[in-house]
Amino acid sequence: MYVQITTRCNMKCLHCCFDCKSKGQDMTLKVFRECVRVMEDRDSGMCIGGGEPTLHRNFETMLMLAIEASIQSYNEGGVHVVTNGSVKKRALLLAELARRGVVTAALSQDKYHDSSMVHERVVKAFTSRLESSYDHERRYPDDYRRINENRDSWQLLNEGRCDFGGCGGPDDPDLCCCEGPFIKPSGDVYVCGCTGSTLLGNVVKDGGLAGLWPDRDCYKQKEPNNDD
Ligand code: SF4
Repeated sequence: MYVQITTRCNMKCLHCCFDCKSKGQDMTLKVFRECVRVMEDRDSGMCIGGGEPTLHRNFETMLMLAIEASIQSYNEGGVHVVTNGSVKKRALLLAELARRGVVTAALSQDKYHDSSMVHERVVKAFTSRLESSYDHERRYPDDYRRINENRDSWQLLNEGRCDFGGCGGPDDPDLCCCEGPFIKPSGDVYVCGCTGSTLLGNVVKDGGLAGLWPDRDCYKQKEPNNDD
């Protein structure tokens, strides 16, 4: 499940499939706690996302709540965070937690991101030892650091403010912006993160995700026929 803790971002990537800007909405701790409860109940992994998640003033608290729940429930999906790396202290924390195998964390480093906003220590924290070891995964199986690198425009999804992507969009059911369940800062739960996705309910008002868990990965896929 994707938990969008903020829609704010300090970068302006042209390919941003959520069309994030400097102003936006942050998730409250109350809503986030409900998401964690769902994570435990459903034995689901959680991607803490945005916008840029490290801009949220409660980022560390949310991260620790999710990690704690994941460990206590022996959750196999774990906790995943993708960062643009601009908030140095928090990006370094993520790199260290991922190096120790506590979370999976990826640093976005492609031509659309503003690399001038990322301190060289952050890049080093995500890449050290990864660069020098061709058989890194075998030697360090508990190192969950990743780098998200360049994609060509034909591989990008035509979503959000990316109007030059070569795939996705309402007529392409095979490619999803972000497979769901997708939970917005308000607690609204969608089938997936695509523009135009189907709203299922609200994680707080509807008492968690029981009954709201989507029966497909993307709203563009055919609804299963329950008469079968
Ligand atoms: S860093 Fe991510 S969230 Fe921010 S504008 Fe770029 S793609 Fe969008």
